[in-house]
Amino acid sequence: MRLLPTRRDFLSGVGAGALVTGFDPVTRSWLAGQQARPQAVPVPRLKGRLLFGKAARSAAADDFGHIVRHLPWAVLEPGDVGDIAVMLRFCSQHRIPAAPRGQGHATYGQAQALGGLVIEMSPLDAISVGADGTATVQAGARWSSLLRAVLPHGWTPPVLTDYLELSVGGTLSVGGIGGTSPHYGAQVDNVLELEVVTGAGRVLACSPASRPDLFQAVLSGLGQCAVLVSATLRLVPAPAHVRHFILYYPTVDALTADQWLVQADGRFSFAEGEAELNPDGTGWLYYLEAGAYYDSVPPDDQKLLAGLHFEPGKQQISTLGYFAFLDRLAPDVAYLQSTGEWYDPHPWWNMFLPGSVTSSFVSGVMAGLTEAGIGASGVILLYPLRRGLLRAPLLRVPDEPVIFLFSVLRTAAPDSGGALPVPELLRANRALFDQGRALGGYEYPIGSIPVTQADWRQHFGPEFALLAAARHRYDPAGILTPGQGIFPPARWHGSAP
Ligand SMILES: Cc1cc2nc3c(=O)[nH]c(=O)nc-3n(C[C@H](O)[C@H](O)[C@H](O)COP(=O)(O)OP(=O)(O)OC[C@H]3O[C@@H](n4cnc5c(N)ncnc54)[C@H](O)[C@@H]3O)c2cc1C
Repeated sequence: MRLLPTRRDFLSGVGAGALVTGFDPVTRSWLAGQQARPQAVPVPRLKGRLLFGKAARSAAADDFGHIVRHLPWAVLEPGDVGDIAVMLRFCSQHRIPAAPRGQGHATYGQAQALGGLVIEMSPLDAISVGADGTATVQAGARWSSLLRAVLPHGWTPPVLTDYLELSVGGTLSVGGIGGTSPHYGAQVDNVLELEVVTGAGRVLACSPASRPDLFQAVLSGLGQCAVLVSATLRLVPAPAHVRHFILYYPTVDALTADQWLVQADGRFSFAEGEAELNPDGTGWLYYLEAGAYYDSVPPDDQKLLAGLHFEPGKQQISTLGYFAFLDRLAPDVAYLQSTGEWYDPHPWWNMFLPGSVTSSFVSGVMAGLTEAGIGASGVILLYPLRRGLLRAPLLRVPDEPVIFLFSVLRTAAPDSGGALPVPELLRANRALFDQGRALGGYEYPIGSIPVTQADWRQHFGPEFALLAAARHRYDPAGILTPGQGIFPPARWHGSAP
């Protein structure tokens, strides 16, 4: 086992930087420094820091969506797992809402906690690589760091998100899918064991064999029962190279026909699909993005492309190193950061659709989608997954053997490029959600779709009972992760502020 150095190692000792000294349960406000009130309770001593300055609270009231801004009362930078446990016990006792925050790449306030505590997970980022094809990683680590840690040992996580700078805890809370999911399921399907801190502040281990109810409620559980603090993950041998194919299609039907084919025969190690506006203004171009992984002998291109019906002469084929392939979005991200578009509002929409309705539904949506509706730097994703490999009960997907992820990743930039205003795009997201749900689709809950608690019940269907029972058992005060809006906000048992 190898333990990499972490930021945690550089934080100083007990109580360092603990600017908040007390909490007044009557006025429900934090007290700083020498402030004293008879009813105040002292804030626990911590190894890390509890911040209540404007800058820290404002940062925790923002995310990649830049749509919702819920200001917390304080931000915890934990020095260790014990800090999270201590603070969750404190929050439970005083009915203070609390939410873990990974990299803040949710788009609709999911990691925010209005008037509560945001737990910044990034200080907990230790990684240990096992000799047995596993890695144990703290939840605040990014997938890029995990990849860098395991590749020298010849291993890789089987499934990676397209963007590697997301936290392990953040994606395991939602599901985590990518171009290898048709072979390995979601990231949550490759977890062996978890360590969590429950809403009640208990540090517990869980796995399919030990406390399976907690294990199931945490994976894709949207932070409703516990804060995931570390995960032991299954790894697979890493390839050295990737033969990378981009194959263009004129229509959704043509793209999805080939996607059905390649998911069935599994000829590619990696397969996704996207759409982009045709530069000549004649609508949308569709493409299959595929990868064939190998070590020393390059695959036979002709064999891989046999029987596919992409537009002749329009294919792009190249060879990349494995890490460069996985990190292929980095230059685009750097460009969008340089233009500022990365920081524009992102009212994203994502759904899993039954394979049988995908082509007709997506064709209809794309026919009505304009540049104003998605923004100049918006992205469309469309790719198939196998239902049978998606085993986490709380990752809700349609009940057909093949399902498709369809994503309309909008960027709203009213001052540059004439995109529609955010409220209008949110209404469009809701309308699209209603249409997709009527066809048997399920939201992939990482986006910006205004939904109600009743919608969530419908979303979880028979699995709602699993989630609600675990919530009752592990977070009885109901304080965790209110930004998801699944359960009623925690009821405070003291007198009104
Ligand atoms: C550019 C970009 C690319 C993306 N690409 C993909 C992709 O290819 N595949 C894919 O599946 N998704 C993708 N996503 C979506 C992404 O997986 C989710 O939004 C994920 O939740 C973000 O991780 P995060 O660390 O930023 O989490 P945050 O936004 O910080 O948190 C998301 C939710 O998880 C909860 N949470 C965070 N950490 C923990 C924890 N330790 N324990 C319990 N709950 C926790 C939060 O409270 C919140 O409710 C992408 C998002 C972006 C912005």
